Amino acid sequence: MDVTKQSVLNIGTLGHIDHGKTSLTRAITHMWTDKHSESIKRNMTIKLGYADAIIKKCKNCDGPESYTTGDKCVNCSGEAVPQLRISMLDAPGHETLMATAIAGSSVIDAILFVISATEPCPMQQTKEHLMIINLLGLKNAIVVQSKVDIVGPEKARQHYQQIKDFLKGSVIEHSPIVPVMTNQGINVDVILEMIANMKRPERDLGSEPLMYIVRSFDVNKPSSDVTRLSGGVLGGAVVRGRFKKGDEIELRPGMAIQTGGGKVKKSTYKSIVTVITDISNGTDKLEEATPGGLVGVSTEVDPAFAKADGLVGNLVGHVGKLPESLSTMTISYHKLNRTDIQEQPIREGEPLLLGAGTATLIGYVTKARKDTVEMELKHPACIEKSAKIAIMRNIGQRWRLTGYGTLP
Ligand code: ZN
Repeated sequence: MDVTKQSVLNIGTLGHIDHGKTSLTRAITHMWTDKHSESIKRNMTIKLGYADAIIKKCKNCDGPESYTTGDKCVNCSGEAVPQLRISMLDAPGHETLMATAIAGSSVIDAILFVISATEPCPMQQTKEHLMIINLLGLKNAIVVQSKVDIVGPEKARQHYQQIKDFLKGSVIEHSPIVPVMTNQGINVDVILEMIANMKRPERDLGSEPLMYIVRSFDVNKPSSDVTRLSGGVLGGAVVRGRFKKGDEIELRPGMAIQTGGGKVKKSTYKSIVTVITDISNGTDKLEEATPGGLVGVSTEVDPAFAKADGLVGNLVGHVGKLPESLSTMTISYHKLNRTDIQEQPIREGEPLLLGAGTATLIGYVTKARKDTVEMELKHPACIEKSAKIAIMRNIGQRWRLTGYGTLP
């Protein structure tokens, strides 16, 4: 695998609202990741945002200042040689960010945990994000103390100590804490050096491959000749194994098929079987799709299904190797015990919003016990046995993350 062409690390960003997650991501990738913030206002979609960067190191210099994601060395303007490609993962909004972190935990390798020096530590959301970090065991982390330029050295030192006390006893107790001034670009290079030297995850390449669909597109121009249409393109996050060009693949739960005429339209789901015709990282062709970053997989799927993210939430595997699609399910319920939520027991008939992989699902509770919930799903879902499912409840007219679950 070419480590400059496919991401070596998927790095999630966590931190309280306005603590500088987006500007840090921008300083590293030179891109904004909150492009989809508009769609989030309309509906609650659990959606992973990806922005890639290639970390480079100067040929002549050493130390943190020799690391950059720009074109040249900042220090000596010398040639910066690509070292590794990384993917920064983000999701807009506090509740969706946490739900996405849980639902997508199998594609998160490391965390940047951003804590602003302008507010006492911990703020409420910072506390909740540490809870998620502990829950998911995300030990590979860098704590970023942001906005230190605004408060000055003395306050920054006191705040640094607050962070240390706050992290005590957590899984990231011994993670480095780096003060940064994102706007001036100060210490962003230190973070790049740390990321470049991070322990790289061991990828399971031998198992049956599994991919989450994060995006899907129709790449044809509106006026394209129908005899020359390209098939749908899938933007996927490979969880394990490898996919190759020519592989016959299956998408589950697949697509809805209307059955029965008359007044009551019913639909059933049918899995989609297709062939991989090409693999790329967006700009370069890849030999195979393996875990790390977002991989573009061209297929022969009808582009009408793929357009406008129509296939997001599907699992992809080799034909016949995926779990069965479910229309009802029973999951365990682990409460997060959030202090800012007054939670009543789950009741029958209640709708729950679920995040599993990249799928956002609605389930209607048919039976609620102390630690398990049975529900009927509005649309079928294909979920891995080991996956953590984020569970959101409608409380006070808002969807709030109250717990997580797993299939038995
Ligand atoms: Zn240099």
